[in-house]
Amino acid sequence: PQQLMRLPRWLKREVPKGNFGNFTAGLLEELKLETVCDNAKCPNRMECYSQKTATFMILGAVCTRPCGFCAVDRGRPAPLSQDEPERLAEAAARLGLKHVVITSVTRDDLRDGGADHYVRCIQAVRARTGAAIEVLTPDFVTCPEALDRVIDARPDVFNHNTETVPRLYRKVRGPKSDYRWTLRLLERIKERDPSIKTKSGLMLGLGEERQELLDTLADLRSVGCDFLTLGQYLMPSAKSADNYLPVVRYVPPEEFDELGAIAKQLGFSQVASGPLVRSSYHAREMAEHESPQ
Ligand code: SF4
Ligand code: SF4
Repeated sequence: PQQLMRLPRWLKREVPKGNFGNFTAGLLEELKLETVCDNAKCPNRMECYSQKTATFMILGAVCTRPCGFCAVDRGRPAPLSQDEPERLAEAAARLGLKHVVITSVTRDDLRDGGADHYVRCIQAVRARTGAAIEVLTPDFVTCPEALDRVIDARPDVFNHNTETVPRLYRKVRGPKSDYRWTLRLLERIKERDPSIKTKSGLMLGLGEERQELLDTLADLRSVGCDFLTLGQYLMPSAKSADNYLPVVRYVPPEEFDELGAIAKQLGFSQVASGPLVRSSYHAREMAEHESPQ
């Protein structure tokens, strides 16, 4: 079994309990919705919920890809739930969310990779709320034409994570992953609708070299990526450590600060860089700082 490194103090964070958290959990259960926030026991929950931000997981709970950093179940997914867009919009409205992040598993089994379901979710949330909508999508590598339909639904922010540097792509993201396609996807969004903010993120501590990381950030800027998140990779569960990629290094907070400053110099307009940063952390602030008003 893998040798587990001790968690450094900067990664320990108390999860405060609060009524809003209970209220949210009850509502999500009633509407049978999955959030990444709860499923991944994200340490930022209370902060995000109180900022009226939550990340919903659509397209079911079973993924068709084998990423070694992720705790989602793998296998044969169930058929799509046709009323999910409505339930999602209902939750967003009742929680008074101001920023809704919609993400999903990868559905290589669906002809359009789930693109039309994304579109329906965006439209449903838009019809019921004034919330900004951010999507964090799979790569649609098996159906590139479906990507355009999600772009045309005009989410405010379109996020697709790079996750790691190109040398580690297959190891981290599995054999179907393709670094060049990740860049192309982000570039395509800007080509088709320059008003959409593009966003990407990487997990650090998977064995990437500093220069590889800096080159990747430069690549992301070369395709016009606007927002960046950098966070520490953590194994989803220490109990079954053999199933997951090991943490090669805990990157100290000062280094995250330094990398964040470099990213700003490279031209990312919004950067969140820190050990506990996740794709949707401070998502609302990132988007609002950019809005015209
Ligand atoms: Fe949810 Fe993302 Fe906030 Fe974590 S960082 S609580 S996943 S919105
Ligand atoms: Fe997890 Fe996404 Fe990879 Fe599926 S594609 S295993 S949900 S990270």
